[in-house]
Amino acid sequence: MYVKPKKKLGQHFLVDLKIAQRIADSINLPVEEGKKNVCVEIGPGTGVLTQFLMDNKDLDLSVIEIDEESVEYLMVNYPSLYQEQRIIGGDFLQLDMKKYFPNGFPIICGNFPYNISSQIFFKVLDHKDEVKQVVCMIQREVAQRIANHEGTKEYGILSVFLQAYYDIEYLFTVDENVFNPPPKVKSAVIRLTRNNVTNLGCDESLFRRIVKESFNLRRKMIRNSLAKYLKGRPEEERFLMMRPEQLSVQDFIELTNILSAQ
Ligand code: SAH
Repeated sequence: MYVKPKKKLGQHFLVDLKIAQRIADSINLPVEEGKKNVCVEIGPGTGVLTQFLMDNKDLDLSVIEIDEESVEYLMVNYPSLYQEQRIIGGDFLQLDMKKYFPNGFPIICGNFPYNISSQIFFKVLDHKDEVKQVVCMIQREVAQRIANHEGTKEYGILSVFLQAYYDIEYLFTVDENVFNPPPKVKSAVIRLTRNNVTNLGCDESLFRRIVKESFNLRRKMIRNSLAKYLKGRPEEERFLMMRPEQLSVQDFIELTNILSAQ
């Protein structure tokens, strides 16, 4: 049985088993004695990474795969996963995670479909109370964007949102030629581990609006991109002449508090 890689599903199957092993080994969330951590693999494809996750006895693994042909392949080749109903056929972005994982899903892992990796991270943020660690392979540029701090050109909306709640480690870069078919871009593996922030100490919905609206006008200074919030504000405010990429997460929080104190 052979699954033909489908471009529209972002299918690039990993061929190098050492890299699959290395991704699986990068999960390091502590586990309570005698227990296992629920781990959800997004996009298992033909199970290249799955087999190594199954070897990790600290994990209670389930996989979510949208491609019916891959699901069938997994059912045949990983009968234990199938018998224990650990293969979920469907779209991760649409799935009601709390229904499938009522006791939480602390770990998310996968060689993500690159075309939807940002949407996957936004869904992780929606579930930041449940998700304690994400270990994933994504396009290198996206990995840099997420891991980089203020003052770099890659820093953006997703970096601010994710860095507010997760410690982010860029683990290693992966070459195109370890995939079938090779993607056009380099890849990278990153690890996100939930920090202990439960609340940002500001109006979080205003925070999200401010981050989005300022980065949507990335080259403009805050006093222009956020003009509508700044009406009647004293001009000496220290953020006014800055561009969004110069503001740290803490700066955005401070800015939110200044603007909501109005
Ligand atoms: N983990 C495998 C496959 C990676 S390719 C490997 O490393 O070889 C990405 C996989 O994600 C593909 O199998 C694709 O079918 C699957 N996928 C794409 N969109 C998805 C979605 N919305 N939900 C779940 N799986 C998806």
